[in-house]
Amino acid sequence: MTSAPLTLPDQKRIGMVSLGCPKALVDSERILTRLRADGYAFAEDYAGADVVLVNTCGFLDSAKEESLAAIGEAIAENGRVIVTGCMGEEADAIRAAHPAVLAVTGAHQYEQVVEAVHIHAPPSQGPFVDLIPQPDIKLTPRHYSYLKISEGCNHSCAFCIIPALRGKLASRRIDAVLREAEKLVAAGTRELLIISQDTSAYGVDIRHESRPWKGQDVRAHMTDMARELGGLRTPEGAAPWVRLHYVYPYPHVDQVIPLMAEGLLTPYLDIPFQHASPKVLKLMRRPANEAKVLERLKSWREICPDIAIRSSFVVGFPGETEDDFRYLLDWLEEAQLDRVGAFRFEPVEGAAANALPDQVAEGVKEERYARIMEVTERISAAKLAAKVGRTLPVIIDEVGEPDEDGDIGATGRSQADAPEIDGAVYLRGAPATLPPGAIVNATIEDADAHDLFGVIAP
Ligand code: SF4
Repeated sequence: MTSAPLTLPDQKRIGMVSLGCPKALVDSERILTRLRADGYAFAEDYAGADVVLVNTCGFLDSAKEESLAAIGEAIAENGRVIVTGCMGEEADAIRAAHPAVLAVTGAHQYEQVVEAVHIHAPPSQGPFVDLIPQPDIKLTPRHYSYLKISEGCNHSCAFCIIPALRGKLASRRIDAVLREAEKLVAAGTRELLIISQDTSAYGVDIRHESRPWKGQDVRAHMTDMARELGGLRTPEGAAPWVRLHYVYPYPHVDQVIPLMAEGLLTPYLDIPFQHASPKVLKLMRRPANEAKVLERLKSWREICPDIAIRSSFVVGFPGETEDDFRYLLDWLEEAQLDRVGAFRFEPVEGAAANALPDQVAEGVKEERYARIMEVTERISAAKLAAKVGRTLPVIIDEVGEPDEDGDIGATGRSQADAPEIDGAVYLRGAPATLPPGAIVNATIEDADAHDLFGVIAP
């Protein structure tokens, strides 16, 4: 019997449009979980919804436009729209563009969103609703889950308005984080993606307070959390992959590298360096930029040779000269990062960087963007080519239909690939019974600048 969602007569239905980053997706999941506990059902399309929630992103001006467009579409298609998320901080702009919205709430204002839903689509609680077990709602596939460990940020990077939107760092209790992780893994998660604005700062605001967990005290600290997460086991007894995102290279990051070498953590670090030139980093007011990063990358690779480093960089930041940009390119040649995302500097309303002198002309930004992409793609292609012939663990995301020869293809990711932002591993020879979330050994036969191709090892 398939488990179709249980809907009761008169049960109100909520539609959800979730925009923005993985952190926003986690917020959407939390809101939906809470609404389900309050007796709501969910609509798959606009027509079936009593009210539509739009979880917006307000980080870049282009994201704001996308958010306004999504609100407009929801109003046109359904008419009853509640707006939440990062752009919710700009209620006036939203109401000016879309006077028909029912309510606007900001990021992480779960209570307010739920209250707005109660007002505009009052729950019709039948006698049974409270007795129905309510599993958490997940918008990501069941085999991977984002785990948010804190909100907000204590830094003041010149191009960023997150601290203004989301406030200062507010870490979750360590026992709450570990309990959620344990529940997710018990429910089928095979890969945990740890997210925040600044993962290495986890617990600073609560003085790394300890909480009892499984008979011992565990500190709210990135290293202790990583060790505990590395000890989790799936119902089949396997270790889930645990991937750290948004890590700044503070000195204590060195302590998690041995955990990767031991297999407790996935050998992957997502460190948003944003630039390499000390002058530009200072103008950007980036945290932890004094660290001798190249030396540390070298020592991390000595401890854990398979570690994959992902990063992102901004080109054309105000004050970036040709010399600064060349410094960045030379640094990238030395650093040999595995995955790199590049962005052209774009002013964000309210960010300090907008007022900096020496703004870079758009044409120069384009030209530098093309050059950084050329360098990073070449490095990525060489790094992936070096994997040809190796057998690597691959987590399966999707299994296809048999082709005319009966061969089944599968798409997965190696430990060096986070979902949605990195590359994929395309596999031949998948067994028909292979489920998403399975971790298989795959022999790599070919590579391009982003992806790997291979066959499931016998
Ligand atoms: S570390 Fe900088 S870029 Fe990241 S959220 Fe904080 S202020 Fe923004």
